[in-house]
Amino acid sequence: MLTYVVLFGFNYEFQHFSSYFNMSNQLLNRSQIEQLVRASLQRNAVSASATSAGPNPLVVNISARHCHLSQASVELLFGKGHQLTPMKDLYMDGQFAAKESVTMIGPRSRVISNLRILGPCRDFDQVELAYTDAISLGFKIPIRNSGDIEGTPGCMLMGPAGFLQMDKGVIRAAPHVHMAPEDAAYYGVENKSYMKLRVGGDVGVTFDQIYVRVDPAFKLEVHIDTDEGNACGFSDETPCELIK
Ligand SMILES: [Zn+2]
Repeated sequence: MLTYVVLFGFNYEFQHFSSYFNMSNQLLNRSQIEQLVRASLQRNAVSASATSAGPNPLVVNISARHCHLSQASVELLFGKGHQLTPMKDLYMDGQFAAKESVTMIGPRSRVISNLRILGPCRDFDQVELAYTDAISLGFKIPIRNSGDIEGTPGCMLMGPAGFLQMDKGVIRAAPHVHMAPEDAAYYGVENKSYMKLRVGGDVGVTFDQIYVRVDPAFKLEVHIDTDEGNACGFSDETPCELIK
């Protein structure tokens, strides 16, 4: 979502764009940016498909820190009736990085500014950080699957129209793979099981606990966070393979 890309990968892509921007010393317009993202996605899909004989290309995306919010929370932070504005589509159909971002305030008044919101709205609030983010904020955060937030720490979010006190919902997202039933059949795995992601390249790392999420609406996509991506030196050239 990888130049690697997509908002999941948003920070990486943004850095890529930024350097492009500086070199060419001219503004990229929206369609040029979208072309770059598409090209990047295609490169990723092509390089990944070389290591996958399955029904769909394997795409691995790095999720930069972000949050999911309920509509009520969006209105608290941005004003009554406010709707998230899609800025960039993610690889997963219907998901987008919103133009809106918030400031996150941790337990020791340390902050992360420009925390991106991913849409569409959900029925709960959740902040997904990398482990390094949590250390810099003075947090201890558990590894959880998305939505499993009972007993997790909270935080304060600040928007242009107000504050949101979250009593829970700050997590380090467990590395996971989204897939459709046809992919699950190909790999021989079931929903809520675990598989491995073998990452090649100069470092070479195998992640042993990739949580499997199966849904007919899902495209085959692995999500790891920025710490995990950095640890294995991930780039759009890095070969990856899912194994049971
Ligand atoms: Zn995901």
